[in-house]
Amino acid sequence: MNLFDETKFIMKKNNIVANKSLGQNFLIDEDVVNNIVESAGVSKNDIIIEIGPGLGTLTKYLLDRAKKVICIELDKRMVSILEDRFSLYKNFQLINDDVLKVDLKEIIKENKTSEDVKVKVVANLPYYITTPIIMKLLEDRLDIESITVMIQKEVAERLAAVPGEKETGSITYSINYYTEPEIVMTVPNNSFIPEPEVTSAVIRLNVLDNPRINVKDEKMFFKVIKVAFMQKRKTLVNGLVNGGIFANKEAAEMALNELGIDTKIRGEKLSLEDFGKIADIL
Ligand code: SAM
Repeated sequence: MNLFDETKFIMKKNNIVANKSLGQNFLIDEDVVNNIVESAGVSKNDIIIEIGPGLGTLTKYLLDRAKKVICIELDKRMVSILEDRFSLYKNFQLINDDVLKVDLKEIIKENKTSEDVKVKVVANLPYYITTPIIMKLLEDRLDIESITVMIQKEVAERLAAVPGEKETGSITYSINYYTEPEIVMTVPNNSFIPEPEVTSAVIRLNVLDNPRINVKDEKMFFKVIKVAFMQKRKTLVNGLVNGGIFANKEAAEMALNELGIDTKIRGEKLSLEDFGKIADIL
C-alpha cells in the first residue's frame, strides 16, 4: 500500500478528520519522508524526539533506523492509533502532551545514557507554533545535535537567511546565534493531506557546541535585537530609543558612532556581531 492509501485507510478506520487548529497535515509522499530521515542522518546511535507524530507516518521510518524514538503528541485521538501501530517496537515511547509544556531537559537526561548517544529532533511541525517550538529547543540549551523539521517555506527562508541580508527577522539572529541552518528541500503542497495553504520546506539546524559569538549579557543581546525589529521600517537609532535601550537620539548616535556603526542604518542590516557590540556597551 502506498502512503496515500495507507493514510486514508488509517484515517477512515479510526474516524479521523484532520484538525486544522492543531496544524494537522499528514505526509503522504514517501520520497519526502525518506529525504527527511536521510537529511537528519538518523542512525542506531540516535535518540529521536519526534514532535507531533500524528498518525505515525514519519515515526515508522524513524523507528526502523534509530535507537529510540520519543514521540510527543497533543491530540488524544492519535494515542490508540500510535500504540496499535507500534506496540511491537521496543524503541517506541509516546508522551501525550503539549510539547511546549514538556520538560525536554529531563527527558533527554533520562535517555542519553552515554556521550556516544546523540539526540536529534525530527518532525513535520504543526505550523501554528513553529517559532515557539524551535525557540524552546534552542533557548533551553538542550543537549541536542540537530533539528530537522518541515516548516512553512517562508519561515524556513527567514531562519536560514544570513543576518543583515534579505528575508531576515529577529529570529534569524537567534537561529544564527545557536545553530548552522541549512534548507534541505522545498516540499509541494500535494505531499500532504489535507493540503496546507502554504508551501513547505525541510530545514536542518545543526546546533553549535557554543553560541556563534560571545556576549556579556545574553538577555540584553536579545532585547536589543527585539526592539530593533519591533519597528522594522524605522532606523536602528529610533528603534533603540523607542524601545528604551537609550535615553535619547543623541545617546544612541554617540554609542553607534563609537562602535563604527552607521547611525542611519536599519536594524535588519546589522550583523550578529554588530548587535553583540551594542549589547556589550550597555
Ligand atoms: N508527523 C505527522 C505527519 O508527518 O504526517 C503529522 C504532522 S502534523 C503537520 C503536526 C502534528 O503535531 C499533528 O499530529 C498535531 O496533532 C501535533 N501537534 C499540534 N500541536 C501540538 C503540540 N502543542 N504539542 C505536540 N503535538 C502537537
